[in-house]
Amino acid sequence: MAIKDEQQPLHILFFPFLAPGHLIPIADMAALFAARGVKCTILTTPVNAQAIRSAVDRANDASHSTEDALAIDIAVVPFPDVGLPPGVESGPALNSMDDREKFFHGVRLLREPFDRFLAENRPDAVVSDSFFEWAAAAAAEHGVPRMVFLGSSLFSRTCIDSMLRYNPVEAAPEDPDALVLLPGLPHRVELRRSQMKEPKKQPEDWAFLQRVNAADQRSYGEVFNSFHELERDSLEHYTTTLGRRAWLVGPVVLASKDAATRGAGNGPSPDTDGCQQWLDTKPEGSVVYVSFGTLSHFLPPELRELARGLDMSGKNFVWVIGGGADTEESEWMPDRFAELMARGDRGFIIRGWAPQMLILTHPAVGGFVTHCGWNSTLEAVSAGVPMVTWPRCADQFYNEKLVVELLKVGVGVGSMDYASKLETRRVIGGEVIAEAIGRVMGDNEYAEAIQEKAKALGEKARRAVAKGGSSYDDVGRLVDELMARRSSVNV
Ligand code: UDP
Repeated sequence: MAIKDEQQPLHILFFPFLAPGHLIPIADMAALFAARGVKCTILTTPVNAQAIRSAVDRANDASHSTEDALAIDIAVVPFPDVGLPPGVESGPALNSMDDREKFFHGVRLLREPFDRFLAENRPDAVVSDSFFEWAAAAAAEHGVPRMVFLGSSLFSRTCIDSMLRYNPVEAAPEDPDALVLLPGLPHRVELRRSQMKEPKKQPEDWAFLQRVNAADQRSYGEVFNSFHELERDSLEHYTTTLGRRAWLVGPVVLASKDAATRGAGNGPSPDTDGCQQWLDTKPEGSVVYVSFGTLSHFLPPELRELARGLDMSGKNFVWVIGGGADTEESEWMPDRFAELMARGDRGFIIRGWAPQMLILTHPAVGGFVTHCGWNSTLEAVSAGVPMVTWPRCADQFYNEKLVVELLKVGVGVGSMDYASKLETRRVIGGEVIAEAIGRVMGDNEYAEAIQEKAKALGEKARRAVAKGGSSYDDVGRLVDELMARRSSVNV
């Protein structure tokens, strides 16, 4: 390996998976490291570069006024030609199994530009997505330490490890309502069978997870968008029992200088200015914010029940209608709800990209109906907002457990079916949704305890990223270690 001048800044290559839930936190994370004098490059494809361009530009603008900070680069490479229409190169754009297969083929072909970058630039380390399991071997060939990033909670990582190690679903009764215990964890974690991935039904996905997990274990360690005070027991389990190395550097959203346009590739929805003004007219804590990330899809009967639930809750609401926005309103919107919307005082609908962090931190917002994607969950934690949890797939059922049972900052709607946006699930009734919102945002002792816990967690989150906080220190620890490694490699 070429000898590097020790005065040269550390160079980290960030290589996120091609989906907003992976890209957005990586752009924020690069901003964190760049602010500490690390040269950061993000390697991605054109559409994905566009999604993080404003976050990177704003971080770079801010770096001019900070002594140690360096600018972040985006290295753009074309998405391989695998027969997908131009511009289809990110998770939310995939609407069929055929597209999904082509997309994953294209993703595997990204190994070539990744190799080329490592050979030409010789960074000190890479932070590559866990889903790029081939990146472990590629980085090893170039003698570059590979850090893993998945964008999950530590809690869900330990649950997935238990699943892969013991496969408790296979041993459980066939009944979808059967309770399945995840063995070997510091906390009792039990899910209904219907809430879990079925290894036998999706053998290819299961084999992929096994490969990814094996590659992660061969890697240098893992960087988490989380903080010590949030998941101490899972961290202890991950590092001591499972023997993995972890740096917790989040919540990375608190490093973002781009609350208004963060993640909005084609700009935020035109509704957002109106939304801010509408929120300004509402009393503190009176509005429930409803959004399900970038990959969830709601069928008309689900949209109908959600609309009924929001109406019945009696609360003000901001509802981001993403997946399913293509569905005609006449197919799902109840007449009563249409009348309520026409009055304009109770609810505000955003179609398109919402400035999520601006909304969550608005004083009027007192609750968040979420699918428990880890970014959304941590953003609610950072904003001190309690959650109504409605997991759909991926790691979301684990995150719900963490939020509701361990942290006690949320109430579930009773989501029972693990199903991706290409699969169907049972519909949850409006009455149940309204009740869950009431339990989080009510004026009773139970709701107030949840609200106070959420506020306290928000304060801990902010302390973790401030100078001297646990996440601030983990960034420093990692930078120092990689710098020391450079010296030892050079000897
Ligand atoms: N997001 C946003 N506006 C939207 C939809 C999503 O800012 O209208 C952001 C959200 O704040 C979060 C990310 O997109 O940072 C979604 O990630 P998450 O892990 O919550 O869910 P996923 O989309 O990966 O399921």
